[in-house]
Amino acid sequence: HLQLHKVGKSYGAVEVIPGIDFEINSGEFLVLVGPSGSGKSTLLKMIAGLEETTSGKIMVDGEDITHLDPSARDLAMVFQSYALYPHMTVRDNMSFALRMRGEDPAEIDRRVKEAVVMLDLGGLENRKPGQLSGGQRQRVAMGRCVVRNPKLFLFDEPLSNLDAKLRAQTRIEIRRLHERLNATSIFVTHDQVEAMTMADRIALLKDGKLQQIGSPQDLYLRPKNTFVATFIGTPE
Ligand code: ATP
Ligand code: MG
Repeated sequence: HLQLHKVGKSYGAVEVIPGIDFEINSGEFLVLVGPSGSGKSTLLKMIAGLEETTSGKIMVDGEDITHLDPSARDLAMVFQSYALYPHMTVRDNMSFALRMRGEDPAEIDRRVKEAVVMLDLGGLENRKPGQLSGGQRQRVAMGRCVVRNPKLFLFDEPLSNLDAKLRAQTRIEIRRLHERLNATSIFVTHDQVEAMTMADRIALLKDGKLQQIGSPQDLYLRPKNTFVATFIGTPE
């Protein structure tokens, strides 16, 4: 259960998020949309601890994580650029964080094997990222998150480098993974189809302010203002 209480962000004198309030239930898949520069990535980074929160509070299951170290947060973030380690094999890329944490090697091995099966990466364990397709690299990046067994997944446009066919396929894989791991997810996208088909609820942001949060049908049929109506109603 994730709660944001008046979470705000300023860069120097520039306020990009004045103060945002919302909650996500455990197991929920929330899609975050909004125009470029509306603050989607900033919001995710604050939740992940990669950007300092200027004001407000971020709570996970009743615990205040606002100023916790990123490594102490039980979550994983998947970026648009996967930033795999080019010199490491698929297996080593996936196990890196666990090895750094000093986990038991047998346990690491077990979790990596499980993730390899889950993400259909069998046979590719000893390849380097340069020897994989875009979609395979994307799945390795997910695998790196999955092995950590996080409660909360943050996705920042993870599919935008993939072609249309692979995007459609990976959408389904991500939803399936979300169910399988019993995770809570926030997924940022520019793609309306992605938002409408993947979301339990959609949150629409503009200028760092939440315009509406609700089911896809809700936003489509009962938009709260003309901005929501235009944004959700207009195909790209
Ligand atoms: P996009 O859809 O293009 O990825 P976004 O919704 O993710 O956009 P953010 O990256 O969160 O937008 O940026 C929100 C605002 O904060 C933008 O106006 C951006 O210019 C500003 N911003 C982001 N990072 C910094 C920074 N380090 N210093 C100053 N301003 C920043
Ligand atoms: Mg962004």
